[in-house]
Amino acid sequence: VRATRGGDEVRGYVPSMGQIFLRRFQMVTQFRQSLEDGHVSVHYQPKITLPNRQVAGVEALVRWVHPEFGRLGPDEFVPAIEAAGLIGVLTSFVLEESLRRVRKWLDEGLRISAAVNLSVRNLGDEDFPAKVQRELERFGVPPELLTFELTESGVMSDPQKALPILRELHSLGIELAVDDFGTGYSSLAYLRQLPVDQVKIDKSFVLGMGTDLGDLAVVRSIVELGHSLGLTVVAEGVEEDVARDQLEAMGCDVAQGYLISRPLPEDRLEAWLQARTARSPGRHSETVLTL
Ligand code: C2E
Ligand code: MG
Ligand code: MG
Ligand code: MG
Repeated sequence: VRATRGGDEVRGYVPSMGQIFLRRFQMVTQFRQSLEDGHVSVHYQPKITLPNRQVAGVEALVRWVHPEFGRLGPDEFVPAIEAAGLIGVLTSFVLEESLRRVRKWLDEGLRISAAVNLSVRNLGDEDFPAKVQRELERFGVPPELLTFELTESGVMSDPQKALPILRELHSLGIELAVDDFGTGYSSLAYLRQLPVDQVKIDKSFVLGMGTDLGDLAVVRSIVELGHSLGLTVVAEGVEEDVARDQLEAMGCDVAQGYLISRPLPEDRLEAWLQARTARSPGRHSETVLTL
């Protein structure tokens, strides 16, 4: 190893395998307690429709402020939670929080849908659709205000198991989205067979399309492919006006990204919505966004 002193200082301390293992072990054993203690929460990132820029819905993104490790991103702990067989606990929590939030909006006269990310392991639970239906009924939320997002690699890893459960969820009236599209073994023929309503273009292409013609071509062809299959096309990772304008020109249906808003805790999302929506009294579902 030829690490210079300067390089080490920049990179800081590199944990050993033992320390990584211990950290994962602690995450997994402390997760339930952290849920009880209120250290796990859900942030929401708004999405807007193009070209009229109305609030299309929010994506629920889990957050964990660990008492010892500090803020943990889902990329850091969701895989460990999955491997430990605790994804059902996590998904139930995020689903419940999201439905409670959608219910509150309905009570305020707003129809805003929430998208919850699923792990392929959720689809290994045969009772999952029944559980989801019970939760929808408990909160009195119509199924079309719930979307589940799944990565294509997730669905592809075990289609035999995943497909019947996806069909069941879909037949309940829940929207299904393929997340991070373009990154896996994007079999276009396969996409046609999936009971999905939306395709989300992976943010790497959206972030790159201003400078990379290849990325731009990928984005353009996903928009066309999605539309030819009758799907709603969502772009994630929209950070610049230019990107939003290009997507709008291509006919992309929905935009999500830091340009519109970062993922926000519930109270800050409320302030964001209030600052940007004009609510016409008495009219349900009238959410006009002025950006
Ligand atoms: P994802 O579902 O593809 O979510 C989008 C990710 O992109 C989020 O990262 C979001 O914060 C980030 N993002 C949004 N807009 C922009 C942008 O304009 N620029 C850039 N650079 N990034 C943007 P986050 O919150 O760290 O989540 C990472 C991944 O963790 C998610 O990717 C999802 O796969 C997973 N995840 C998050 N919450 C849950 C959950 O409740 N359950 C499961 N199973 N997975 C989750
Ligand atoms: Mg997602
Ligand atoms: Mg994504
Ligand atoms: Mg992702």
